[in-house]
Amino acid sequence: MNGMETPATPLLEFDGLHVTLPVRGEHRTVVHRVDLTVPTGTAVGLVGESGSGKSLTARSVLRLLPPGARVSGDVRFEGASIAAMDQGALRTLRSHEVAMVFQDPRAHINPLRTIGDFLTEGLITTRGERRVVAAAKATDLLREVGIADATRRLRQRPAELSGGLLQRVMIAAALITEPRLLLADEPTTALDVTTQAEVMAIIDEARVQRGLAMLFITHDLALASAVCDSIAVMYAGSVVEQLPASRLHEGSCHPYTRALLASRPDPGAGARALRAIDGRPLSAFEAGPGCAFAPRCPAAQDVCSTELPLPEPTGDGRTACHFPRLAHDGAPGTDRRVPHV
Ligand code: SF4
Repeated sequence: MNGMETPATPLLEFDGLHVTLPVRGEHRTVVHRVDLTVPTGTAVGLVGESGSGKSLTARSVLRLLPPGARVSGDVRFEGASIAAMDQGALRTLRSHEVAMVFQDPRAHINPLRTIGDFLTEGLITTRGERRVVAAAKATDLLREVGIADATRRLRQRPAELSGGLLQRVMIAAALITEPRLLLADEPTTALDVTTQAEVMAIIDEARVQRGLAMLFITHDLALASAVCDSIAVMYAGSVVEQLPASRLHEGSCHPYTRALLASRPDPGAGARALRAIDGRPLSAFEAGPGCAFAPRCPAAQDVCSTELPLPEPTGDGRTACHFPRLAHDGAPGTDRRVPHV
């Protein structure tokens, strides 16, 4: 795995992404500030609670935001601003460069069409592939993602397949255009635990074999650190920390990341009660002018409520915090906090 200590070419860059949506006559902030890079061929896990803005961040890459969304900041693919792309460039981005795997395949596969039509339509209409060639590619990909009897499955409709099989079909549909970037939006959340592991292994193997980059959206910190090169943690619409997955436990500096790590179940801890983070998560639109985590943060000081912390380099990555715990400061809870202001 590549860590952030060996920078690669950024394939995807978020530069101060900010998104608002119209809600009952006013615009509400749903993504505050996302600064993030996904280097070529690497996997970045975007981790956060429900409503933290992860999915909207991913959808902004393909300009698939809800109607009325206002976007500022920039998202770039290989240096090209996605907001500035004309329809032709956007179509090329969507059909050749970037593919998305959604959480609920049933909501994204037409129930009236066959699996074969779903998989081959894009190749035939946007690339001019012959139907027989497209069908052969679809058959091979279904086999690759672990679907037996692929030829028969191509003739079936979505209602005839289980959720796990349909998610495999969704993965095959993402791979069939040979993209360079995969956006995987909680691809295993709707599946049972056994199927989750199988589907995650399929995505990971296909990605590594093809050298694909991936933005992997999840609320599961452990899963993200197992399959990704780096981790970006989101809270209330902002990326608060990005660091190499291999350094997550020892190198994380943001109090929210530290609190998430401390609140995970520990099989070796016997009957010790789980540690919860005090307070409740804020939505992006509830955040004030300062740090959104301030009401819950044990390290908060006055400046935290009034000044927004911006991402700055910390030992292994970048952290948006006025008083990050530095890795050399010692164990969590006994840290020395170094003011940036
Ligand atoms: Fe806590 Fe302040 Fe850092 Fe926010 S900026 S995480 S409130 S120390």
